[in-house]
Amino acid sequence: MYPESIKLFIDTFSKLPSIGPRQATRLAFHLVNSGKANIEETSKAVGNLKNIKICSECFFIHSNSDNLCNICRDKNRKNTVVMIIEKETDLISIERTKKYPGKYLILGELTKSGVLESSQKLRLNSLKNLIKNRGGQIDEIIIGINPTTYGDLNALLISKELQGLSKKITRLGRGIPTGGEIEFADEDTLGQALERRI
Ligand SMILES: [Zn+2]
Repeated sequence: MYPESIKLFIDTFSKLPSIGPRQATRLAFHLVNSGKANIEETSKAVGNLKNIKICSECFFIHSNSDNLCNICRDKNRKNTVVMIIEKETDLISIERTKKYPGKYLILGELTKSGVLESSQKLRLNSLKNLIKNRGGQIDEIIIGINPTTYGDLNALLISKELQGLSKKITRLGRGIPTGGEIEFADEDTLGQALERRI
């Protein structure tokens, strides 16, 4: 029923988070009706994303000439405190509180199975090596994982993996409602959760 290019668009965009086939179809028609210049601009915005790089220390995005993001390059941020989070958007939420002086490790979205994926183990290993190269032990590792049942399970797994590499391993306080998400918590709630670490 659809021309090949529309079909391809719908297939591609349906794979993106929070966009299903219906939304993808609406987007396709919207773009077609918006004219060639708009389509060009949209495809350029998507295409430019390929220039974004991933930080070699925390795995956040950047577009610097070396391998480090702006947070990892920042000499004013503490190397001795590292927060482990799932997603880039969690980092952005924590940064908005302006209450966190340390560094991060982005792990990628955790599964509900209570098993870490191999890519996540690799990222944890990279943090382990980083800490070993900086003297073997830091002051604090904060596990900034959503307070859900599987989040708790994963937090336990992660803290076992990192045992001995930090003087203490904490979690964000229970300001975030149980089952809630860091990404959607407001700045005050998140700031309090940060201050009342457990
Ligand atoms: Zn970084």
